[in-house]
Amino acid sequence: MSSPRIGIYGFTGCAGDQLMILNCEDRLIDLLGAVDINSFAMAKSDNQDGELDVAFVEGSISTEEQLKHLKDIRSRAKILVAIGTCACWGGPQAMKLEEGGFEDRYRGVYGDVKIEVSKAFEAQPVDAFVKVDMKMPGCPIDKTEFLSAVSKVVAGRHPYFYKFPVCTECKWKENPCILIEGRFCAGPLTKAGCGAVCPSHNIPCVGCWGPTDDLNVSGEYKLLAEKGYDADEIIQKIKKFGGAGVAKLVKNLDREREEVRK
Ligand code: SF4
Ligand code: SF4
Repeated sequence: MSSPRIGIYGFTGCAGDQLMILNCEDRLIDLLGAVDINSFAMAKSDNQDGELDVAFVEGSISTEEQLKHLKDIRSRAKILVAIGTCACWGGPQAMKLEEGGFEDRYRGVYGDVKIEVSKAFEAQPVDAFVKVDMKMPGCPIDKTEFLSAVSKVVAGRHPYFYKFPVCTECKWKENPCILIEGRFCAGPLTKAGCGAVCPSHNIPCVGCWGPTDDLNVSGEYKLLAEKGYDADEIIQKIKKFGGAGVAKLVKNLDREREEVRK
């Protein structure tokens, strides 16, 4: 029986998820023995464009050339997994999504220089363009979660990703709550998976795992506003990594804001 063929690809982002895969160290040898890595530009040079059982895609999509490549990967892959917060939600480069003004911001950075290589557009998560079968967020992804997911996906099973927020992991560790101490912590709004690493070191969560599945922005906003946190600050902070996932929900916040202000 032939080994499952996988491809690992990177678009707009810091490449931290691909580095995390390379950083699987001792387990990487087992992984290489269990699968046929068809394409992984960061790790090998003899990459191919063949049919894939699973494609892992990192980064958001921000140019026409990337979009063409993404569609080609999708057409060749039975399963496509978005890895990392940029691929899943757009990441920091998508925090202004739905506010408009991309052309002005682009000109503010690049001036009137015309970039010939490929036309850029507002960065968006992978599922804005193609069907995504699974999302594995993280900034970067957790290597244990990645290895567990790979072994399940290639065996035809669906991996389990946490659905609850960082606060749950934080409570498992019996940390004192930073939010109750009076500092803004995005733990209640953020998907678990990192092991609550920041609050465990008395550092507030900034939401780098992206929004939790059942994110209730308006309910959370009311709670935080009643505790004296500023709405704009909360929204700005959770949009930093939540990108598209949060932008859509924030649009519905105006009514709640008015209610709290009364
Ligand atoms: S410190 Fe942050 S992550 Fe931990 S329980 Fe409080 S709000 Fe949640
Ligand atoms: S605690 Fe929050 S900011 Fe820190 S790694 Fe986890 S999700 Fe990211």
